[in-house]
Amino acid sequence: MHLRDEPPAGSTATCERGRARAVLVPVPLTRDASAALCVRRRRCGSPEDGGFLEGDDVLMNFSFSDRSERLRKELLSFMDEHVYPAELVYAQQLSDAGSPHAHPPVMEELKAEARGRGLWNLFLPDAEHGAGLTNLEYAPLAEIMGRTKIAAEACNCNAPDTGNMEVLHEFGTPEQQERWLRPLLDGEIRSGFAMTEPDVASSDATNIAMRIERNGDQYVLNGRKWWTTGALHPNCQILVVMGKTDPSAPTYQQQSMILCPLDANGVTVERSTTIFGYTEPEGHGLLTFEEVHVPASNILAGEGMGFLIAQARLGPGRIHHCMRAIGVAERALELMCERADHRETFGSPLSHYGNIRDWIAESRIQLEMARLLVLKTAWLMDTVGNQHARIEIAGIKFAVPEICQQVVDRAIQVHGGGGISDDFPLAYMYAGLRSLRLADGPDEVHKLSVARKELRRQRERRGDLRTPA
Ligand SMILES: Cc1cc2nc3c(=O)[nH]c(=O)nc-3n(C[C@H](O)[C@H](O)[C@H](O)COP(=O)(O)OP(=O)(O)OC[C@H]3O[C@@H](n4cnc5c(N)ncnc54)[C@H](O)[C@@H]3O)c2cc1C
Repeated sequence: MHLRDEPPAGSTATCERGRARAVLVPVPLTRDASAALCVRRRRCGSPEDGGFLEGDDVLMNFSFSDRSERLRKELLSFMDEHVYPAELVYAQQLSDAGSPHAHPPVMEELKAEARGRGLWNLFLPDAEHGAGLTNLEYAPLAEIMGRTKIAAEACNCNAPDTGNMEVLHEFGTPEQQERWLRPLLDGEIRSGFAMTEPDVASSDATNIAMRIERNGDQYVLNGRKWWTTGALHPNCQILVVMGKTDPSAPTYQQQSMILCPLDANGVTVERSTTIFGYTEPEGHGLLTFEEVHVPASNILAGEGMGFLIAQARLGPGRIHHCMRAIGVAERALELMCERADHRETFGSPLSHYGNIRDWIAESRIQLEMARLLVLKTAWLMDTVGNQHARIEIAGIKFAVPEICQQVVDRAIQVHGGGGISDDFPLAYMYAGLRSLRLADGPDEVHKLSVARKELRRQRERRGDLRTPA
């Protein structure tokens, strides 16, 4: 899309927010990733309003940078030449291994190829340890990776390792970085993030009850965790664990994060939870920690820093999930259109029926809306910082998975009985997107943040100081 100052003849899209006004001129969409877009808008409100300052126009420029475009082309060719052909090989090797938590050898081949092509650690904005891309530059690449389950791992851009690498990069000591960050960046090991607990409602992280107690030059961990993604991967070696170091401290300083090797005495991986019956190779571990001793130097950023680290970790993680989710849904839409064109009932292809065309049109436009919101959020993170973009991050975290889930749901319906079988990838896609509405916090908690902010803004607009915050 290109910027125009005034609506061109036949222009279909204008948008306003507060005093902001932008004209969007559509250009043809590509199958693979976000359309480039340039929007000029007048700044409005304060950074608290979502990042816009009073003053001059700012350019919200969503066009691909040269670097992003080069990587995008490289990634598309990697996907066509190596990743899509490896999907069946990966599934076959996993099935042959006799364990749902095996590491199919083809993945190491893909990793070597991706690294050789410079498609490695693309998520990490730091240029020394990662690719040095902005969130906006990374967005189209993450979307392409999202099109298949195996691409993100092939490029060392998979959750939860990305978040853990960011934590180690931002908060780790040089020793912690050398011991754990370096092999993670090299894709030699994998990791887990152990925050959620089976025994407490973990969407309120103040409930986290695991104890991390100082004992001389060690900490002792006791508690239970579940949904620790990655814990059953054969290469998983390290966990970032959240727990209480000081239950008597102010609420948001009670929690700390600590590095705990998976093979430490007292750590037991009991089993993986399933997702709608699917067992994922990396697993979602149910773990117990009984008198687990780790060196005191394993603490991350000091006692009481758990919430601060969690906030820093979750922002990028959430937007990466949304970027990949759009890739999932784009692929589902492709499948839906293909099926609708080739399947006939009552003498007509399905694509001739009005309701099916409605679904296709609605899906296309919903995905465009979702992508624009994700790009705007990425742009805000890059320009005013993750903290000022937190409401937008909360917004996409509930809006995008829901939209993508609707698209996949329609694709399933168009496929009839096949849609809910594993003969097509749609049922698995659906399970993944549905669970994304819980992972990294349930929809309701993110909606709460957006609603609270909106209510405050509206009260301020009315000059109403009596109502509660
Ligand atoms: C696929 C997947 C991967 C995951 N990976 C990880 C991981 O790697 N590490 C990790 O630590 N955790 C992980 N999780 C766990 C996830 O973060 C939690 O499930 C989530 O935060 C919710 O916590 P809970 O399950 O304890 O639900 P609860 O806190 O018990 O909440 C239950 C429900 O209550 C409702 N609710 C809660 N608060 C409110 C509110 N304020 N207003 C209205 N309704 C509310 C919501 O509907 C919510 O779904 C993963 C989860 C999934 C599904």
